[in-house]
Amino acid sequence: MNATNYSLLDASFAEEAQRFDATDPLAAYRAEFLRPVTPEGKPILHFAGHSLGLQPRQVRESIQEVLDDWANLGVEGHFAARRPWVTYHELMTDATARLVGAKPEEVVVMNTLTVNVHLMMVSFYRPTSKRFRILIEGGAFPSDQYAVASQAQFHGFDPAVAIQELRPRLGETTLRDADILDTIARDGEHIALILLGNCNYLTGQRFDMAAITRAGHAQGCFVGFDLAHGAANLLLNLHDDGPDFAVWCNYKYLNAGPGGLGGVFVHERHLNRTDIPRFAGWWGHDKTARFQMGPEFQPMPTADAWLLSNPPILALAALRASMALFDAAGMPALTKKAAWLSDFLYRQLQTLPDGAVTVLTPAEPNRRGTMLTLRVPGKAAELVGFLQRHGAEVDLRRPDIVRIAPVPLYTAARDVAELGVLLRAFWSEDGESH
Ligand SMILES: *Cc1c(COP(=O)(O)O)cnc(C)c1O
Repeated sequence: MNATNYSLLDASFAEEAQRFDATDPLAAYRAEFLRPVTPEGKPILHFAGHSLGLQPRQVRESIQEVLDDWANLGVEGHFAARRPWVTYHELMTDATARLVGAKPEEVVVMNTLTVNVHLMMVSFYRPTSKRFRILIEGGAFPSDQYAVASQAQFHGFDPAVAIQELRPRLGETTLRDADILDTIARDGEHIALILLGNCNYLTGQRFDMAAITRAGHAQGCFVGFDLAHGAANLLLNLHDDGPDFAVWCNYKYLNAGPGGLGGVFVHERHLNRTDIPRFAGWWGHDKTARFQMGPEFQPMPTADAWLLSNPPILALAALRASMALFDAAGMPALTKKAAWLSDFLYRQLQTLPDGAVTVLTPAEPNRRGTMLTLRVPGKAAELVGFLQRHGAEVDLRRPDIVRIAPVPLYTAARDVAELGVLLRAFWSEDGESH
């Protein structure tokens, strides 16, 4: 392909982008976010929302409100703040439930993701001498690997024996849905807990949560999902799909800020039960009696039963601002736009020279979310550096993986068209010098 063809392509993609943006019902949300600028003062194109989302403008005001109430009210702020701190975390509940397709009593915002993986495993990894395996994806996110291995050890099992990993077939890069279900049917009697990411953090492969949950439950396994790359990215129906629990972080697609608080889903069937082991703290105690400071733990009848401490209000304030935007836009509209943007990016990748990139993310729209993962043999770091110098932020996993997420709340189609121009420039003859 030569430079002339590229400029024709650039023009036709730009035109298509213009048409999309002109009727995009979510277009106005773009202005609600702050973005870094290049040394030339141009706002960057941010395609790393799967890693850390941009800052919503309203975050500053939301945090300022808490700071002012603290300054003006001191300890009285617990009850007298404009949004009293004692119930502040409940401001997230309904919107979180809508975000993940759950009932309000099934969700709680608390802690950070890996902490919540551990807390959920305390309750739902209950190994016996016959059934003690944990089924995870091969190459799961490192923190998840460390968490499950340390949980197995905590219960006296050798992780090398207790952790069972799903691997793609030889020569393939993602898992086949049928192979996951076959593994569960074959080995289920030995598996205590199935814990999969969704989407997979590296390949962006989406799993069929309902089918996996059914298969796991049919074998008597507990089933949980790490939705670090699913929450605020996929249209989720956690209650109907029926996993026992799910956990996620809110700082990726949900823009809650660095180290922002995570989310937890516990299915209704496990609420209000006293026979579930749980690490307890005072904020999980029945709130009507919390301040009587009685010696015996009476759990909240909701997912709040897993809360430990009085929550960090400043971090919640940041999340509240971002959550309001997501809730107003709604996941159906967001996922619809994301699917279009993701496909638009996919089509542009197909204009690159043969062999330049391989898309590892499944091609079928229902088997992926917003993010596309590319393998760029020999040139990944160079490409990411080139894009960065030209004002586009993507994410590099050495040695050869590049992840790009055109998240729908603050990405316009013209941003993706511009990225396409840069990608084609990188591989065009004049681009060789970069
Ligand atoms: C981002 C991510 C984490 C990070 O965990 P923290 O406890 O929030 O630092 C863990 N697991 C997965 C799958 C992730 O994508």
